[in-house]
Amino acid sequence: GTAAAWLVAPGGWPDTAALRADHASHKGSRGDVLVLGGALPHAHAGIGMGGAALLAARAALRAGAGRVYAALLGDAEQVPPWDMGQPALMLRSATAALDSDLPERATVVAGCGGGPAMATLLDAVLARCPRLVLDADALNALAQRPDPEPLAARQARGWWTVLTPHPLEAARLLRTDTATVQRDRLAAARTLAERWHAVVVLKGSGSVVAAPGLTPRIVASGSGWLATAGSGDTLAGLLGARLSTLPWPAPPEDLQAAVADTVALHGTLPEHWPHRWPPTASDLLP
Ligand code: AMP
Ligand code: MG
Repeated sequence: GTAAAWLVAPGGWPDTAALRADHASHKGSRGDVLVLGGALPHAHAGIGMGGAALLAARAALRAGAGRVYAALLGDAEQVPPWDMGQPALMLRSATAALDSDLPERATVVAGCGGGPAMATLLDAVLARCPRLVLDADALNALAQRPDPEPLAARQARGWWTVLTPHPLEAARLLRTDTATVQRDRLAAARTLAERWHAVVVLKGSGSVVAAPGLTPRIVASGSGWLATAGSGDTLAGLLGARLSTLPWPAPPEDLQAAVADTVALHGTLPEHWPHRWPPTASDLLP
């Protein structure tokens, strides 16, 4: 149609009743997610946001993914044996994970932490991961080397690329400032989607989900209770889980719809928090 944008309400994913009733399912059929980011403890200086990858990975697991891997940047020998907060997570080093068959098999969520070191992995991530969500430090790495060609090549192959910038990250990608992004959020999201050949979630109040050549969607759910550290990492993990169960390959319309639906669901998470004080990011999927 000619609408400037569609409004999105949260849909029925994850369908917990269907999951319970599906006796043929096994952990391989529920989707694999690889979160690439964070930092190993000894490498903390200059990398930072060590918890971001764990927040995203735990969210992916809670959202129903069959197997979730968190691959951390730093020396491989330093990978802790498990995540004490969520022992079902499988921890890897980022380099080992990228050398395995995981990038092809899993939906990859890159950039939840990792700092400037993400820039050294970006080429490999773009070249090897058919289903990819780029957040935070991966977006900053992308903004530093603004060659859209690898992303155009991904689009031509039917590979999925989802970018999830908040307004400052969007401004860096557009080489402008946050005020300009916020003044016309629809235009900013559409420009990003066209320039980077990707489905773009411009986060914030009224998240915009734009895709090349398609009508953008505006997600009305969400509130100031999401304005807390790590809440974007939770969204990235949810997207990983959602895309790992989306039939692959899928047309761009289906990808955009699944992304918008997941952003809408993320916006409703604080409604399930029973207290009068606001939830932290880890409380969003308790
Ligand atoms: P990040 O800045 O990467 O941690 O992401 C923050 C997440 O919270 C995004 O999904 C935003 O859309 C959401 N969020 C933050 N503040 C608000 C708000 N005032 N209204 C609705 N959603 C918000
Ligand atoms: Mg963030």
